[in-house]
Amino acid sequence: MALLPIVEVPDPRLRQISAPVETVDDDIRALIRDMFETMYHAPGIGLAAIQVGVPKRVLVMDLQEPAEEGGEPVKEPRVFINPEIVTYSDDDVPYTEGCLSVPDQYAEVERPDRIRARWLDEHGKQHEEELDGLLAVCLQHEMDHLEGILFIDHLSRLKREMVLKKLAKMRKERGLRAA
Ligand code: ZN
Repeated sequence: MALLPIVEVPDPRLRQISAPVETVDDDIRALIRDMFETMYHAPGIGLAAIQVGVPKRVLVMDLQEPAEEGGEPVKEPRVFINPEIVTYSDDDVPYTEGCLSVPDQYAEVERPDRIRARWLDEHGKQHEEELDGLLAVCLQHEMDHLEGILFIDHLSRLKREMVLKKLAKMRKERGLRAA
């Protein structure tokens, strides 16, 4: 297993469209293991392969929600290969999103609250399920990465520029501290 470097804005690789996985083989499973390690270490709840520079339609997610309020996070790793959304609900709900490729920046994005999705798991087995709440939001966010779309693209131009300005300021401050 290996920790992979995370690609951050404005790296043009984040704008690439990822290609479908033809065969779910040991190479893909090795990539998935490294992606989980990288995601848990970051820490984050979702990661698309392009965020570690691999333009393939592979996502890993784990909401790590505690079983009870204030309790220990429970690990529930999920793998989505070649995911597709079959149907969306009509009602959009706002949710505060963040992204490992836009570090430490958060903004509210509206997305359908309920989706029906289809995907392959790490053994190549097909799944189709209805997802809602944070799981639905997170899958839509990660699937955007496969099309080269970031959550900040859903914001108004003004808000997007604010987020990028805050990120530049944070990087500058961290750079100064490191120097
Ligand atoms: Zn993201």
